[in-house]
Amino acid sequence: MSNEKHSDEEWHTLLTPEQFNICRNKATEPPFSGKYTDCKEPGTYVCICCGNPLFTSETKYNSGSGWPSFWDALCTESIRQVQDNSHGMRRIEVVCKACDAHLGHIFNDGPQPTGLRYCINSASLNLKVDS
Ligand code: FE
Repeated sequence: MSNEKHSDEEWHTLLTPEQFNICRNKATEPPFSGKYTDCKEPGTYVCICCGNPLFTSETKYNSGSGWPSFWDALCTESIRQVQDNSHGMRRIEVVCKACDAHLGHIFNDGPQPTGLRYCINSASLNLKVDS
């Protein structure tokens, strides 16, 4: 898939129902349910929707939250931050900078050197394992 934006109808044909609900409708997968929560394989996590490189396994850590957690994004082209005031909370949403896919949220309780926790849905990611 290329880095282009699609209509909802097109995304329906490109994604599984779970991927669509999370990436295009901002749903959240249940904690400890995603396939990458405990994954330690070295590689690059790309957007499931468009293939944009988002995170590297080098910044992945075990937060205990039940979701894949990273302390930094891969590069400045990876993600965009959006103020999210839904569900009675003030949070920072993380979306794919290339296709606007909802990925998760950022919190300030991560490890150094950034102190950030990128709390990401496994369903929004695809791991390209280092060869
Ligand atoms: Fe994307």
